This record gives sequence, structure tokens and C-alpha cells, in this order.
Amino acid sequence: MAESVGENSPTAGAEPRVGLVVVSHSRTLASSAVALAAEMVHGRPLRIEVAAGLDDTTFGTDAVAIMEAIERADGPAGVVVLMDLGSAVLSTELALDLLQDPSVRDRVTLSPAPLVEGLIVAAVSAAGGASRDEVAAEARDSLMGKSGHLSTPDAGTAPDAGTVTADEVVGVFTVENPHGLHARPAARLVSEVRALDASVQLRNLTTGGSPVPARSLSRVATLAALRGHEVEVRASGPQANEAVEHLLTLAARRFDETIQEAAEPPARAPATPTHGPLPASPGIAIGPLRRLTAVPVDLDRETVEEPAVEWRRIVESVAAVRRDIEHVRVVTAREVGAEQAGIFDAHLSLLTDEEMLADVKARTSTGIGAVAAWAGSLADVEREWASLPDPYLRERAADVHAVGDQVLRALTGEPARRMTAQGVLVASDLTPAETAGLDLDLVTGVVLALGSPTSHAAILARARDIPVVVGAGPEVLSIPEGTTVLLDGGSGELQFDPSPELLEDYQRRSANAAEQRARQLALAEQPAVSRDGVHVAVAANLGSVADARAALSAGADGAGLVRTEFLFLDRSVAPDVEEQKAEYAAIAEAMGGRRVTLRTLDVGGDKPLSYLRMPQEVNPFLGQRGIRLSLEHRDLLREQMAAICHTARSYPTSVMIPMVSTPEEMIEARQVLLEAAGHSGLPEGLHIGTMIEVPAAALKIEAFLPYVDFVSIGTNDLTQYALAAERGNAAVAGLADALDPGVLQLIAHVCHAARGRIDVAVCGEAASDELAIPVLVGLGVRELSVSPPAVPRVKAAVRELDVERCAELAQQALTLPGAADVRKLSLAMLSEDGH
Ligand code: PEP
Ligand code: MG
Repeated sequence: MAESVGENSPTAGAEPRVGLVVVSHSRTLASSAVALAAEMVHGRPLRIEVAAGLDDTTFGTDAVAIMEAIERADGPAGVVVLMDLGSAVLSTELALDLLQDPSVRDRVTLSPAPLVEGLIVAAVSAAGGASRDEVAAEARDSLMGKSGHLSTPDAGTAPDAGTVTADEVVGVFTVENPHGLHARPAARLVSEVRALDASVQLRNLTTGGSPVPARSLSRVATLAALRGHEVEVRASGPQANEAVEHLLTLAARRFDETIQEAAEPPARAPATPTHGPLPASPGIAIGPLRRLTAVPVDLDRETVEEPAVEWRRIVESVAAVRRDIEHVRVVTAREVGAEQAGIFDAHLSLLTDEEMLADVKARTSTGIGAVAAWAGSLADVEREWASLPDPYLRERAADVHAVGDQVLRALTGEPARRMTAQGVLVASDLTPAETAGLDLDLVTGVVLALGSPTSHAAILARARDIPVVVGAGPEVLSIPEGTTVLLDGGSGELQFDPSPELLEDYQRRSANAAEQRARQLALAEQPAVSRDGVHVAVAANLGSVADARAALSAGADGAGLVRTEFLFLDRSVAPDVEEQKAEYAAIAEAMGGRRVTLRTLDVGGDKPLSYLRMPQEVNPFLGQRGIRLSLEHRDLLREQMAAICHTARSYPTSVMIPMVSTPEEMIEARQVLLEAAGHSGLPEGLHIGTMIEVPAAALKIEAFLPYVDFVSIGTNDLTQYALAAERGNAAVAGLADALDPGVLQLIAHVCHAARGRIDVAVCGEAASDELAIPVLVGLGVRELSVSPPAVPRVKAAVRELDVERCAELAQQALTLPGAADVRKLSLAMLSEDGH
């Protein structure tokens, strides 16, 4: 994103120099332009900051990255910003609005100069000590040399291409696209125009409407240009000729819309799972089929602050939604196809629509709150689309609504869909936030067409004791609402519209399960000691204070994993230290003096944070997740460590680092912890541990031992990495089984090295899997951390074990070929022992 590529080490006593910022869609382009400019300054000190591309290879601009680049380049002499085109300009304007310190904004000049030529002359003059105005003026005139050289003698006095507008140029094209100039071709047109230095107006000659600016998607849509309509292009400015020629050529190519695409906009096809339903959260559920229903945002619940604050909320929410859409665009391009991903260009165009944003800003400046301002402006744009004569175009108003609504959700934090009646929820997939928000008075169970048992939605459902079956296939989505559903989240059985006998059977099973649960709960406070006297701690995995309360009443011996990221998700800014201190203390308090293991922020992968700039990654699970991301955002990590240290001074606390691959990461994390602890040093009794989730870390466990007091094996991730089977991907969910002997070998290696030195826990979902428990205990695991409702059941399971027999079972399991063989063996032992 933003990178510092220049040197700003003015020699002692030298005048401060103007800083430069390069904003471009392409990181490669920006870096090369900077390298070229650096050649021209012959080593004289100069600071050039780059904010370009969404990552090394993805084109795009990001207002937050630009803001940070401006802050880095800033100094007493100010900053000149050079941009390439289109949204680079808009993002830079947004970046100025984002600057916290208004005095910085006063020292910034946005230069209209062409990027490469402008940067070279700006660099030369800034390195020579010119003032900000002088640098900007130099940049603005940077095309004079070239235009003077290239103008023909009979062109008379050649205009200065940088400052003088050309005469108007006019052309006409006929719309050839079957559905007219609908959202996608219109988005293509708008993005082409925004890339040129020309003012362009379009007019539908066939309907005789008024001209509209070609840079605004919402206005272009109102042309209602259908197939066969003639559209006039009227352009002025330095690139007027190119603009007209370009649009005429583009129209002749039907704005590069393929025939199939033009005939039928594609829906995103869900990946078809290659297996049947999978158990994901135990329990029997019976009830009528229900779906999530869209709920409108409550516009009246807004407290309004000053216009600048309200505008800032809009800018941040728009930026967050843009990042989300860009992420989905990358994923769609990869999984569905580049053409289909193009639909998101239209969505992105709306979020950079200058006309609409200007209208929203004008509304906030009259004292209207961000939500009302955005909603009002959105309603106007939607109305324009909805009143278009062509039914196909009218339907595209839905796209506008969808994007606009996403921004409203980002502004208010309200979920888009909810259950509104009691029953079994059937959905294609659920986000962690949607799962966390399920109303327990309404939902009796969940059936997901996609998903996998170790997805975060499934984990949260287990924590909330909601029976779930995943990977049920897309067919379930077309079963009518109200159909009776039976599901067993422990076995994966799923029935729709059952016979009365089957219904009765499920009701009986449900009653038996409730009785068994009551018996287990009655003993839950007691420690879990095996038949041969080995104590196994059964702790709980938590995401909130409510989970902690549930864990305590379920008899948990402690919290083996607090997923602190749930405090950070689904909000527009990170919680500050005070909020974190309060949350962690509340969790520790609710655990009644039992040890609480706070895991540092584990985002990335399937848990993006809208306010943290994350690279667009082709394989996010293999990219910047967990500690890798935290070390990139050290301030955030330090704040979290400070809150953890604060908690550790009052409660028995452990800190645990996720996604560690090398001892250096542990060393760095410890360093940040030490910094955060401050003068008083590390709190007494604070245990420091690492998660073992990366196979390489498991294999070189010895190298970690000097830096840790304990390890906790995250079998969810360890399994996905060891078997190359992405968690959450329904197509490979059957493969991702922690009982695969390959995964067990890794666990065995960790337990062997740690024996007698440090404690080994398992906090992945395998810890509550009845067939996995004897194997894990047999390998030497002495703490199982599970979802709160599973604690009584897991304790009951441990009490039935003979650890010596488990050790034999585990050794035999290591020699087997597959997870199914291990399951069979484990089941055989449990059955023999009379379970
Ligand atoms: C794991 O990977 O097993 C784990 C416990 O962490 P999470 O599920 O939160 O990634
Ligand atoms: Mg994990």
C-alpha cells in the first residue's frame, strides 16, 4: 500500500524540503516513476511517499493509505500530491477529509499535473529547495516542453496542454447492447471517462433528454439509453479528442460486454459440495423451515454530531464498503471468472460517484446526520433509476440499493438479514456476525447449504448450543418455507417433511438427549478424572462475556481460548485500550477466578476487519493472518497487550499468540508485550504461550520451548494446513478431519517434545469430538478447551477413559492410513469399554 521510497535526511541547517506523495492505481507504475524521478535529483535529499495499488499486483487506490502517506511526507514545507487518474483523485480528496490534524491539510497541494512528467519536475524543484507553490507550479507546467516540441507549425500558438482547454469536440454513437446502457456498460463508460483529462457530457438524442456528466454513473443511468438509441458525446479539455474517439470505439465494441453477459447477468453460483450434509454442532432440532429476511435499517436511531464528524463517518464507511467489495471482486474473479467479477465495478463506481458524494456532503453540511444524508441521497438516485422506462434498467436499481444499503449497514452496524419467526434456519452460509446475532428464542437449529464444521460460523453456533448441519447442498435452498425439518447436528442427519413415525423418533431422541445432558450438567463442577486417575482440565473457548457466564455455569475449569477478535469485528473502529481492559476484566470476573487465556487478535483469513487495511490476497489463509498481521500493526498489538497486562495484574491470565510459524515471531511478540507492560514489567503470574496451528511450527516445537510457558494446538487450522483442505470450503470439508493420522503425527510430535516441560492443550474443535478425545488424551494432551455447552459432555467422556488404553489406541492410530480408520478404531475401543 503505502511505502516510503525516498530519503528525507536534510543536512544540518538545510531548509526543510517539500514532501511529495505519489498516488497511483498501480504500485509497479508508482515505484518505477519514483525511480525515474530519483535519477534526476542526483542523490539530493527528498521525501517521496507512495500510496499505490491495493497490493503489489491489484490495481486500486485507498484513501486511508493515501492519508498515511501524506502524514509521512508532511513537514514544515508541506506536501505536493501527484495522482494518476479517476478514483486516484477522488480517493486523495477523501484522504484529505480523513486527516485528523487540520493544519496538515492546509499544507497540502493536490497537483493536476500528469503523474510521470509532473513527478519528475516536482522532484527536481523540491530537491532544489523550492517552496510548495513553486513545486506545484513547476508540476502544473510540466507538459509545456513536450507540447511545444510536438505541436505542428500550422497549429499556431500551441496551447499549454496542462492549463488551456481545447474547443468542444462532438460525436454520436448508437447503443448496440441488447439491454441498452445498463449498469455494467455504463460503469465501463464512466471509468474510461474518469481516466481522461476531459469534461464529457452525454445526451440521449433519441429521447431528447438533457445532457448528463459522463463521470457520474448514477447520472449516466438516467439517460435511459436503450438498444438503438443515439447518444451524443460532447467533450472539452486537453483530452477531448481522445474522449470522443474512445467512447465511440467502445460503443462499437458494445462496451466489451459479452453476448452471454448481455443476455443474462450471471448469479454467483455456489460451489457444489461433493458430499452429503456434515454434522457441525450437536443437538436435535425440530421445526418449520425458516429463512433470513432482509430488515430495513432503522434511520431514526441516529445521534448527530458536527457536520465534519458526520462526513467523516460517511468517508470511513464508504472506504470500508469499498474494501469489502474489492475483496469480493478479487475472490469472484478467482473462483467464478473475471467477467462476472466485472459486476462489482458498477458497485464500486457508485461508491466513487462524485455527484452522489458531493450531494451527501452538502446534506451533512446542513446539519443532517450521516445516516439520513446517505439514505436521502441514495433514495434520490434509486428513484431516478426506478423511473427509467426500460424494465431491465429499472431492475438495476436493485444494484444501487444493494451497495447503498451496504454503506448504511456500515454506518449503523445493523445486520442485513434476520430471522423473524421460530424454526430451523436454512441458509446458504452465515457470517460470524450473523451467527452471533441469531435469536435463541427463534432458532431451533441451522442447516447451511455450504460451510464446513470448522468454519467460524459453526464454531459460534456450537458456543451458542445451536444444532447445525453444514454442506447440505444448494437443493435445500429451494425447499418451501414452513416445511418441517428434522436435524441431528451430532450425526449430520437431515430430513425434510418427515413421516409421523420419524417425527416421533426425533422427539424421543431429543427428550433422551435432554435427560443425558441434565445428568452430565449435575456433575459438571467436578474435575474430569479418568478411571485410572489422570486429571484432564476441561476449559472453554469464549468470544464474549456471555460465553464466560455460560462456561462457568457449565463447569469449565478455565478459559483455554478467548477469541478476542470478536470484540474487534463488525465495527468501524478498533476498541481502544480502555474498552479492551473493561471487556477482558468482565470476562475474567465472570470466570470466577479461573485462569483465562486471552489470545491476541487473530484476524485475516476468513475474518477481515474493515478498518484495518489488509492486502487483497489470492490465498488469505496462507497470507497475513494472526500474529503476522498483528506485527504489521504493532500499535494495535501493543494496545491489546497493554490491556492484557492490565487484566493479568488482577486475574490469573495467560496470553496466547495465534498463527505462529517461527520462533522469531514469538520473540517479537514478547518484545511488544514487554513494551506494553511498561515500567512495572511483566505481571507476575502471566503465562505466555503459542498456538500450534502451522505444521512447520509443530515439527520444530523444540525451537519454541525457550519462549513459551504452554502451547495450545489449534486443530482447526493445523488440520486445514496439514491436509491442504481450506476450512469453510464445503467441497473439502470431509477431508479436513483432525483424526487424519498425518495431523495426529504432528500432535504426537508436539506432545512428545513437551512432556515434562510445558503443558499441551488442544483448543480446536477436535477437543470436543467424542472419538478424538481418547486419541488426544492418549497422545498426552492434558487440557481440552471446548465450546461452553460442550464442557459437561467432554468432562463425562474423560471420566469414562482409561488413559493407558488411550495411549495404546493413540499409538495404533498413528499407523493407520486415514481418519475414517482412526474413527473406527476409537469407536471400537469406546464400545468395548461399554460407553
Ligand atoms: C484453531 O485453529 O484450531 C483455533 C482454535 O483457532 P480458530 O478456530 O479461532 O482459528
Ligand atoms: Mg486458528
